[in-house]
Amino acid sequence: MPDEKFPFAGFGSAAVHAGHETDPRYAHLVPIYASSTYVYDNAEQGMKRFNGEEPGYIYGRWGNPTSTEAEEKIAALETFGLDLKVKGILHASGMAAITTLMLGTLKSGDKILTHYSLYGGTEELIHRVLPGLGITAVIADLRQLNEVEDRIKRDPSIRLLYLETPANPTIQCVDLADLSAIGKRHGLIVACDNTFATPYLQQPFKYDIDFVMHSTTKFLNGHGTAIGGILLGRDEERMSGFITKTHRLLGGNANPFDAFLLINGLKTLELRMDRHCSNAAKVAHYLQGHSAVAAINYAGLSSHPDYAIAQKQMKHPGAMLSFELKGGLEAGIQFMDRLKMCIRTVSLGTCDTLLSHPASMTHYGVPKEQREQYGITDGLIRMNVGIENIEDIITDLEQALDTK
Ligand code: PLP
Repeated sequence: MPDEKFPFAGFGSAAVHAGHETDPRYAHLVPIYASSTYVYDNAEQGMKRFNGEEPGYIYGRWGNPTSTEAEEKIAALETFGLDLKVKGILHASGMAAITTLMLGTLKSGDKILTHYSLYGGTEELIHRVLPGLGITAVIADLRQLNEVEDRIKRDPSIRLLYLETPANPTIQCVDLADLSAIGKRHGLIVACDNTFATPYLQQPFKYDIDFVMHSTTKFLNGHGTAIGGILLGRDEERMSGFITKTHRLLGGNANPFDAFLLINGLKTLELRMDRHCSNAAKVAHYLQGHSAVAAINYAGLSSHPDYAIAQKQMKHPGAMLSFELKGGLEAGIQFMDRLKMCIRTVSLGTCDTLLSHPASMTHYGVPKEQREQYGITDGLIRMNVGIENIEDIITDLEQALDTK
């Protein structure tokens, strides 16, 4: 194992080695510490662990050595090349991490300023659960920076600026540097869900963002084998204080088996993302010229409204895209039914190419007028471009798009 301070020149080396500590029994990989509790040599040691005088594990809901390795690896990747240290707390899911953020930073009467293009679960948490606790949301187009600043000036109860970029399903991007600067000018907490980009493509901490969240279920795990989430924060005192307390008491801790799967996935993040991204660019160019496709949302095409923002803050525009079929609902259903290799499912971030048709699946119950406001039209298909050989992905799309 390289020394803790080994100056990794490359992100890929950090992805493989960062966070690993020599195992007391010299296992090469971190074991799955399947233990709910931890023992003390004597009562005095127990006391010291509880009062924080001696570091060490106490109880599985509070922390676990396998989870610690995943936390430290992701923290190293989110700050790779930056002169910064952040603390990560692994959770049972992305939603658990977002819930810890909300309840660990907000109180009754506070407001969240965010945009309409958010993961559906986050949106429901904000609109259906948090209002019951007196926490409400102000929705704005976060690409209109003057409007954002005006809203903040007019409403002193806005406490958290919550960003997700790129976001579902139109791959909308918002400007991390500009929004963070506005947030900081007005004393707000600024948080960013970095799930779609991963730290390989985008590092929100570079822009002074306070908190970064991931659904590790997606590209970080990379293989679709476990649900998980992480909340990372730059304020060590706050992270080790009230945020840790909130995480422990809400009980959304990760389990060590899922943490182990996550560590394995993280080691190949750079390789996988390079392939995901180059395949996505090729798929976007293929779809752009197809007669059955009315529109394509991919932040790497200059026709995308947020192309310039993606170029500014992302190493590559990523592996996610969506496209609209000319034939509407019927065409969407027919296309999905014809797929042979690519997988019909929701979620993203796996090696396999995954496609979903929101109008007949995730948004089936949402009234048409309402979903269309968010860009979810009848013929919209969302695609997580996988790492298969590009020829096979295109062949499958070609035969599924064939309208003859
Ligand atoms: N954030 C984003 C951008 C997501 O896409 C998802 C899930 O799809 C989540 C958060 C929630 O993550 P999880 O399903 O791991 O709770």
